[in-house]
Amino acid sequence: MKLYLLPMVIFLSACGQHQKKVESAANSTLQTYYDMNIGLEDSEANPQDYSKVFAADQRPKNVILLIGDGMGINQIMVTRQRFYGVDGKLFMESMPFSALINTHAALNDNITDSAAGATAMATGKKTRNGMLGVTADTLPTENLIEKCKRVAMSTGLITYGKLSGATPGAFASHVASRDMKGDISYQMLQTNFDFLFGDSEDFWGTTSDGKAVNRAFAESLGFHILENKNQLNESTDDKILALLSPLVMEDESIESGKVVINPLAPTLSDVTKKAMNHLTKNPKGFFLMVEEDWIDSWGHDNRPDFVTWHVRHLDEAVQAALNFALSNNETLVIVTADHETGGLTNIEVGDTTGVLRLNYSTDEHTGQPVPLFAFGPGANRFMGILDNTDIFRIISDLLALPDSE
Ligand SMILES: [Zn+2]
Repeated sequence: MKLYLLPMVIFLSACGQHQKKVESAANSTLQTYYDMNIGLEDSEANPQDYSKVFAADQRPKNVILLIGDGMGINQIMVTRQRFYGVDGKLFMESMPFSALINTHAALNDNITDSAAGATAMATGKKTRNGMLGVTADTLPTENLIEKCKRVAMSTGLITYGKLSGATPGAFASHVASRDMKGDISYQMLQTNFDFLFGDSEDFWGTTSDGKAVNRAFAESLGFHILENKNQLNESTDDKILALLSPLVMEDESIESGKVVINPLAPTLSDVTKKAMNHLTKNPKGFFLMVEEDWIDSWGHDNRPDFVTWHVRHLDEAVQAALNFALSNNETLVIVTADHETGGLTNIEVGDTTGVLRLNYSTDEHTGQPVPLFAFGPGANRFMGILDNTDIFRIISDLLALPDSE
Protein backbone atom coordinates (compact mmCIF):
# COMPACT_ATOMS: atom_id res chain seq x y z
CA MET A 1 0.00 0.00 0.00
CA LYS A 2 1.25 3.44 -0.89
CA LEU A 3 2.11 5.64 2.07
CA TYR A 4 0.78 9.14 1.90
CA LEU A 5 0.88 12.10 4.22
CA LEU A 6 -1.53 15.00 3.96
CA PRO A 7 -0.73 17.44 6.75
CA MET A 8 -3.44 19.98 7.47
CA VAL A 9 -3.36 22.66 10.11
CA ILE A 10 -6.81 22.26 11.59
CA PHE A 11 -6.76 24.98 14.21
CA LEU A 12 -4.48 27.63 15.57
CA SER A 13 -6.48 30.00 17.72
CA ALA A 14 -7.78 27.47 20.23
CA CYS A 15 -4.27 26.36 21.07
CA GLY A 16 -2.73 29.84 21.31
CA GLN A 17 0.64 30.63 19.88
CA HIS A 18 2.60 27.87 21.61
CA GLN A 19 1.63 24.91 19.52
CA LYS A 20 -0.31 24.04 16.43
CA LYS A 21 -2.19 20.84 15.94
CA VAL A 22 -1.63 18.90 12.72
CA GLU A 23 -3.65 15.91 11.56
CA SER A 24 -2.27 13.54 8.96
CA ALA A 25 -3.68 10.48 7.27
CA ALA A 26 -1.03 7.78 7.11
CA ASN A 27 -2.03 4.28 5.99
CA SER A 28 -5.63 5.46 6.47
CA THR A 29 -5.01 5.95 10.21
CA LEU A 30 -5.65 9.49 11.38
CA GLN A 31 -2.79 10.74 13.53
CA THR A 32 -2.56 13.95 15.51
CA TYR A 33 0.70 15.82 15.88
CA TYR A 34 1.55 18.96 17.81
CA ASP A 35 4.17 21.33 16.45
CA MET A 36 6.06 23.54 18.87
CA ASN A 37 8.81 26.05 18.18
CA ILE A 38 12.22 25.35 19.68
CA GLY A 39 13.80 28.35 21.33
CA LEU A 40 14.38 30.59 24.29
CA GLU A 41 10.72 31.37 24.85
CA ASP A 42 10.61 34.07 27.55
CA SER A 43 13.41 32.33 29.44
CA GLU A 44 17.07 32.95 30.03
CA ALA A 45 19.43 30.01 29.75
CA ASN A 46 20.01 28.45 33.16
CA PRO A 47 23.18 30.11 34.53
CA GLN A 48 23.53 28.35 37.92
CA ASP A 49 25.99 25.58 38.64
CA TYR A 50 24.49 22.74 40.68
CA SER A 51 27.23 20.20 39.95
CA LYS A 52 28.52 20.14 43.55
CA VAL A 53 29.16 16.59 44.76
CA PHE A 54 29.22 15.83 48.50
CA ALA A 55 31.37 13.25 50.35
CA ALA A 56 30.04 9.74 49.63
CA ASP A 57 29.34 8.97 53.29
CA GLN A 58 27.73 12.31 54.22
CA ARG A 59 24.11 12.04 55.34
CA PRO A 60 21.45 14.71 54.85
CA LYS A 61 19.54 16.38 57.67
CA ASN A 62 16.70 17.47 55.39
CA VAL A 63 15.09 15.82 52.37
CA ILE A 64 12.99 17.58 49.72
CA LEU A 65 11.21 15.23 47.28
CA LEU A 66 9.73 16.99 44.25
CA ILE A 67 7.31 14.95 42.12
CA GLY A 68 6.16 15.81 38.62
CA ASP A 69 2.96 13.81 38.28
CA GLY A 70 3.06 12.18 34.83
CA MET A 71 6.53 13.65 34.05
CA GLY A 72 8.46 11.27 31.81
CA ILE A 73 11.83 12.02 30.25
CA ASN A 74 10.20 13.37 27.08
CA GLN A 75 8.06 15.88 28.98
CA ILE A 76 11.37 17.17 30.39
CA MET A 77 13.08 17.16 26.97
CA VAL A 78 10.23 19.05 25.29
CA THR A 79 10.12 21.65 28.09
CA ARG A 80 13.87 22.19 27.80
CA GLN A 81 13.67 22.66 24.03
CA ARG A 82 10.68 24.98 24.19
CA PHE A 83 12.03 27.31 26.86
CA TYR A 84 15.81 26.92 26.80
CA GLY A 85 16.61 25.61 23.29
CA VAL A 86 18.11 22.26 22.27
CA ASP A 87 21.38 22.95 24.10
CA GLY A 88 19.73 24.39 27.21
CA LYS A 89 19.10 22.76 30.56
CA LEU A 90 16.32 22.71 33.08
CA PHE A 91 17.43 23.16 36.69
CA MET A 92 16.55 19.53 37.39
CA GLU A 93 18.84 18.50 34.50
CA SER A 94 21.73 20.35 36.19
CA MET A 95 21.67 18.01 39.19
CA PRO A 96 24.76 15.78 39.40
CA PHE A 97 23.17 12.32 39.97
CA SER A 98 20.41 10.60 38.06
CA ALA A 99 18.67 7.24 37.84
CA LEU A 100 15.82 5.58 35.99
CA ILE A 101 12.88 4.44 38.09
CA ASN A 102 10.62 1.47 37.29
CA THR A 103 7.08 2.27 38.32
CA HIS A 104 4.88 -0.85 38.01
CA ALA A 105 2.14 -1.43 40.59
CA ALA A 106 1.51 -4.62 42.62
CA LEU A 107 0.37 -7.92 41.10
CA ASN A 108 2.35 -7.47 37.86
CA ASP A 109 0.27 -4.46 36.87
CA ASN A 110 2.84 -2.74 34.68
CA ILE A 111 1.02 0.59 34.50
CA THR A 112 0.66 2.43 37.78
CA ASP A 113 -1.66 5.23 38.80
CA SER A 114 -0.66 8.07 41.11
CA ALA A 115 -2.04 6.27 44.17
CA ALA A 116 0.08 3.11 43.83
CA GLY A 117 3.07 5.11 42.51
CA ALA A 118 3.10 7.55 45.41
CA THR A 119 2.41 4.74 47.92
CA ALA A 120 5.55 2.98 46.67
CA MET A 121 7.64 6.13 47.22
CA ALA A 122 5.99 6.99 50.55
CA THR A 123 5.95 3.52 52.13
CA GLY A 124 8.33 1.29 50.15
CA LYS A 125 5.46 -1.12 49.43
CA LYS A 126 3.87 -1.94 46.09
CA THR A 127 0.10 -1.72 46.16
CA ARG A 128 -2.81 -1.96 43.78
CA ASN A 129 -3.89 1.02 41.69
CA GLY A 130 -6.31 3.25 43.56
CA MET A 131 -5.02 2.39 47.05
CA LEU A 132 -3.16 4.75 49.38
CA GLY A 133 -0.72 3.87 52.17
CA VAL A 134 -1.77 0.22 52.33
CA THR A 135 -0.29 -3.00 50.96
CA ALA A 136 -1.93 -4.91 48.08
CA ASP A 137 -3.99 -6.80 50.68
CA THR A 138 -5.10 -3.46 52.25
CA LEU A 139 -2.93 -3.58 55.39
CA PRO A 140 -1.79 -0.09 56.55
CA THR A 141 1.94 0.41 56.13
CA GLU A 142 3.98 3.17 57.75
CA ASN A 143 4.99 6.11 55.53
CA LEU A 144 8.03 8.42 55.52
CA ILE A 145 6.12 11.22 57.25
CA GLU A 146 5.13 8.99 60.19
CA LYS A 147 8.73 7.78 60.48
CA CYS A 148 10.07 11.36 60.41
CA LYS A 149 7.56 12.36 63.10
CA ARG A 150 8.79 9.51 65.34
CA VAL A 151 12.25 11.12 65.36
CA ALA A 152 10.78 14.63 65.89
CA MET A 153 11.56 15.96 62.42
CA SER A 154 9.31 18.59 60.81
CA THR A 155 7.21 17.63 57.79
CA GLY A 156 5.35 19.30 54.96
CA LEU A 157 3.30 18.48 51.87
CA ILE A 158 2.77 20.85 48.95
CA THR A 159 0.72 20.13 45.85
CA TYR A 160 -0.60 22.27 43.02
CA GLY A 161 -3.44 19.73 42.72
CA LYS A 162 -6.02 18.72 45.31
CA LEU A 163 -4.54 18.37 48.80
CA SER A 164 -6.71 15.26 49.24
CA GLY A 165 -5.43 13.91 45.90
CA ALA A 166 -3.59 10.64 45.43
CA THR A 167 0.02 11.84 45.65
CA PRO A 168 -0.21 13.84 48.91
CA GLY A 169 -2.74 11.26 50.16
CA ALA A 170 -0.15 8.47 49.93
CA PHE A 171 2.12 10.41 52.32
CA ALA A 172 -0.68 11.09 54.79
CA SER A 173 -3.29 8.33 54.90
CA HIS A 174 -4.04 4.61 54.82
CA VAL A 175 -7.20 3.98 52.80
CA ALA A 176 -8.44 1.34 50.38
CA SER A 177 -9.50 3.94 47.78
CA ARG A 178 -8.17 7.29 46.61
CA ASP A 179 -11.82 8.38 46.33
CA MET A 180 -12.25 8.34 50.15
CA LYS A 181 -11.52 12.10 50.26
CA GLY A 182 -12.96 12.74 53.74
CA ASP A 183 -10.89 9.93 55.24
CA ILE A 184 -7.73 11.14 53.46
CA SER A 185 -8.17 14.74 54.74
CA TYR A 186 -9.07 13.54 58.25
CA GLN A 187 -5.99 11.34 58.50
CA MET A 188 -3.80 14.05 56.95
CA LEU A 189 -4.90 16.58 59.57
CA GLN A 190 -4.28 14.05 62.32
CA THR A 191 -0.74 13.38 61.07
CA ASN A 192 0.56 16.55 62.78
CA PHE A 193 2.12 18.14 59.69
CA ASP A 194 3.86 21.49 60.13
CA PHE A 195 3.04 22.75 56.62
CA LEU A 196 0.29 21.79 54.16
CA PHE A 197 -0.56 23.53 50.89
CA GLY A 198 -2.93 22.53 48.11
CA ASP A 199 -6.23 22.97 46.28
CA SER A 200 -9.14 22.83 48.74
CA GLU A 201 -11.53 21.11 46.31
CA ASP A 202 -12.78 17.86 47.95
CA PHE A 203 -10.79 18.59 51.12
CA TRP A 204 -13.60 19.38 53.56
CA GLY A 205 -16.38 16.85 54.08
CA THR A 206 -17.02 13.75 56.16
CA THR A 207 -15.23 10.48 56.74
CA SER A 208 -16.75 7.16 55.66
CA ASP A 209 -17.91 6.66 59.26
CA GLY A 210 -19.50 10.11 59.48
CA LYS A 211 -16.87 12.26 61.26
CA ALA A 212 -16.84 15.91 60.17
CA VAL A 213 -13.72 17.23 58.44
CA ASN A 214 -14.13 20.98 58.71
CA ARG A 215 -12.29 24.14 59.74
CA ALA A 216 -13.18 23.67 63.42
CA PHE A 217 -11.62 20.19 63.38
CA ALA A 218 -8.44 21.50 61.69
CA GLU A 219 -8.20 24.41 64.14
CA SER A 220 -8.73 22.06 67.10
CA LEU A 221 -5.56 20.28 65.95
CA GLY A 222 -3.62 23.55 65.95
CA PHE A 223 -3.68 24.43 62.24
CA HIS A 224 -3.83 28.05 61.11
CA ILE A 225 -5.86 28.12 57.92
CA LEU A 226 -4.54 30.49 55.24
CA GLU A 227 -6.39 31.27 52.03
CA ASN A 228 -4.22 33.44 49.76
CA LYS A 229 -0.60 34.26 48.96
CA ASN A 230 -0.50 37.42 51.11
CA GLN A 231 -1.63 35.53 54.22
CA LEU A 232 0.94 32.85 53.43
CA ASN A 233 3.75 35.40 52.98
CA GLU A 234 3.01 37.06 56.29
CA SER A 235 2.31 33.96 58.38
CA THR A 236 4.58 33.10 61.28
CA ASP A 237 2.24 30.37 62.56
CA ASP A 238 3.62 27.02 63.73
CA LYS A 239 1.19 24.78 61.86
CA ILE A 240 0.10 26.04 58.46
CA LEU A 241 -2.80 24.70 56.38
CA ALA A 242 -2.88 26.80 53.20
CA LEU A 243 -5.86 26.05 50.97
CA LEU A 244 -7.19 27.78 47.88
CA SER A 245 -9.41 26.72 44.98
CA PRO A 246 -8.94 26.77 42.09
CA LEU A 247 -5.17 27.11 41.86
CA VAL A 248 -5.23 26.74 38.07
CA MET A 249 -8.03 28.45 36.11
CA GLU A 250 -8.78 25.57 33.76
CA ASP A 251 -11.48 27.15 31.56
CA GLU A 252 -9.59 30.45 31.17
CA SER A 253 -6.45 28.50 30.30
CA ILE A 254 -8.21 26.51 27.56
CA GLU A 255 -9.93 29.62 26.21
CA SER A 256 -6.80 31.77 26.05
CA GLY A 257 -4.37 28.99 25.09
CA LYS A 258 -2.10 30.03 27.98
CA VAL A 259 -1.98 28.59 31.48
CA VAL A 260 -3.76 30.98 33.87
CA ILE A 261 -3.31 30.57 37.60
CA ASN A 262 -5.48 32.16 40.27
CA PRO A 263 -4.11 35.67 41.00
CA LEU A 264 -4.54 34.91 44.73
CA ALA A 265 -2.36 31.78 44.45
CA PRO A 266 1.38 31.74 45.09
CA THR A 267 3.58 29.96 42.56
CA LEU A 268 4.90 26.50 43.43
CA SER A 269 8.34 28.07 43.85
CA ASP A 270 7.03 30.69 46.31
CA VAL A 271 5.26 28.05 48.42
CA THR A 272 8.35 25.85 48.40
CA LYS A 273 10.51 28.76 49.62
CA LYS A 274 8.02 29.55 52.38
CA ALA A 275 7.88 25.92 53.48
CA MET A 276 11.67 25.48 53.53
CA ASN A 277 12.13 28.62 55.65
CA HIS A 278 9.35 27.44 57.96
CA LEU A 279 10.53 23.85 58.36
CA THR A 280 14.25 24.59 58.70
CA LYS A 281 13.67 26.08 62.17
CA ASN A 282 13.65 22.52 63.53
CA PRO A 283 17.24 21.46 64.45
CA LYS A 284 16.22 17.79 63.90
CA GLY A 285 15.62 18.46 60.20
CA PHE A 286 12.65 18.17 57.88
CA PHE A 287 11.04 16.16 55.09
CA LEU A 288 9.10 18.07 52.43
CA MET A 289 7.18 16.65 49.45
CA VAL A 290 6.32 19.03 46.59
CA GLU A 291 4.05 17.93 43.74
CA GLU A 292 3.10 19.51 40.38
CA ASP A 293 -0.08 17.60 39.56
CA TRP A 294 -1.04 19.39 36.32
CA ILE A 295 1.69 17.74 34.22
CA ASP A 296 -0.49 14.64 34.48
CA SER A 297 -3.85 16.41 34.13
CA TRP A 298 -2.92 18.19 30.88
CA GLY A 299 -1.09 15.02 29.75
CA HIS A 300 -4.42 13.18 29.81
CA ASP A 301 -5.76 15.99 27.57
CA ASN A 302 -2.71 15.66 25.25
CA ARG A 303 -1.78 19.33 25.67
CA PRO A 304 2.01 19.62 25.39
CA ASP A 305 1.86 23.44 25.53
CA PHE A 306 0.29 23.31 29.00
CA VAL A 307 2.30 20.26 30.13
CA THR A 308 5.57 22.09 29.43
CA TRP A 309 4.36 25.20 31.30
CA HIS A 310 3.80 23.05 34.39
CA VAL A 311 7.11 21.18 34.03
CA ARG A 312 8.81 24.59 34.08
CA HIS A 313 6.60 25.59 37.04
CA LEU A 314 7.93 22.54 38.91
CA ASP A 315 11.46 23.29 37.70
CA GLU A 316 11.28 26.76 39.27
CA ALA A 317 10.47 25.07 42.60
CA VAL A 318 13.44 22.76 41.93
CA GLN A 319 15.62 25.85 41.48
CA ALA A 320 14.40 27.21 44.83
CA ALA A 321 15.14 23.86 46.52
CA LEU A 322 18.60 23.66 44.94
CA ASN A 323 19.50 27.21 46.04
CA PHE A 324 18.37 26.36 49.57
CA ALA A 325 20.40 23.12 49.49
CA LEU A 326 23.50 24.90 48.11
CA SER A 327 23.54 27.38 50.97
CA ASN A 328 22.43 24.87 53.60
CA ASN A 329 24.79 21.95 52.74
CA GLU A 330 22.66 19.44 54.70
CA THR A 331 19.75 19.01 52.31
CA LEU A 332 19.14 16.22 49.80
CA VAL A 333 16.97 17.29 46.85
CA ILE A 334 15.29 14.57 44.76
CA VAL A 335 13.20 15.20 41.64
CA THR A 336 11.21 12.37 40.08
CA ALA A 337 7.79 11.29 38.80
CA ASP A 338 5.20 8.68 39.70
CA HIS A 339 4.65 7.62 36.05
CA GLU A 340 4.58 8.99 32.52
CA THR A 341 1.30 10.24 31.04
CA GLY A 342 0.38 10.19 27.35
CA GLY A 343 3.28 8.30 25.75
CA LEU A 344 4.71 11.59 24.49
CA THR A 345 7.36 11.34 21.78
CA ASN A 346 8.99 13.67 19.29
CA ILE A 347 9.08 12.54 15.69
CA GLU A 348 10.72 13.50 12.41
CA VAL A 349 9.40 16.76 10.94
CA GLY A 350 11.15 16.62 7.56
CA ASP A 351 13.22 19.50 6.26
CA THR A 352 11.98 22.07 8.74
CA THR A 353 14.36 22.90 11.57
CA GLY A 354 13.50 24.67 14.79
CA VAL A 355 10.25 22.75 15.12
CA LEU A 356 9.49 20.01 17.60
CA ARG A 357 6.82 17.64 16.23
CA LEU A 358 5.12 15.77 19.04
CA ASN A 359 2.91 12.72 19.10
CA TYR A 360 0.88 11.17 21.91
CA SER A 361 0.22 7.44 21.87
CA THR A 362 -2.52 7.47 24.55
CA ASP A 363 -4.54 9.70 26.84
CA GLU A 364 -3.72 7.39 29.75
CA HIS A 365 -0.59 6.57 31.78
CA THR A 366 2.24 4.48 30.34
CA GLY A 367 4.67 2.02 31.92
CA GLN A 368 7.80 3.89 30.78
CA PRO A 369 10.51 4.20 33.42
CA VAL A 370 10.73 7.77 34.75
CA PRO A 371 13.85 9.80 35.49
CA LEU A 372 15.12 10.75 38.94
CA PHE A 373 17.61 13.55 39.64
CA ALA A 374 19.43 14.07 42.95
CA PHE A 375 21.59 16.76 44.55
CA GLY A 376 23.10 16.98 48.04
CA PRO A 377 24.39 14.60 50.71
CA GLY A 378 23.28 11.05 49.81
CA ALA A 379 22.51 11.95 46.17
CA ASN A 380 25.18 9.43 45.10
CA ARG A 381 22.85 6.64 46.29
CA PHE A 382 20.55 7.33 43.35
CA MET A 383 22.23 5.75 40.32
CA GLY A 384 21.39 3.14 37.68
CA ILE A 385 18.01 1.46 37.40
CA LEU A 386 15.97 1.61 40.59
CA ASP A 387 12.44 0.71 41.64
CA ASN A 388 10.06 3.36 43.00
CA THR A 389 10.10 1.54 46.36
CA ASP A 390 13.88 2.18 46.52
CA ILE A 391 13.16 5.91 46.99
CA PHE A 392 11.54 5.13 50.35
CA ARG A 393 14.28 2.67 51.27
CA ILE A 394 17.18 5.02 50.47
CA ILE A 395 15.61 8.06 52.17
CA SER A 396 14.82 5.99 55.30
CA ASP A 397 18.38 4.72 55.37
CA LEU A 398 20.00 8.14 54.84
CA LEU A 399 17.88 9.77 57.56
CA ALA A 400 18.38 6.70 59.84
CA LEU A 401 14.61 6.48 60.29
CA PRO A 402 13.40 3.71 62.61
CA ASP A 403 11.72 0.57 61.23
CA SER A 404 7.96 0.17 61.70
CA GLU A 405 6.78 -0.42 65.23
ZN1 LIG B 1 -3.12 10.58 35.62
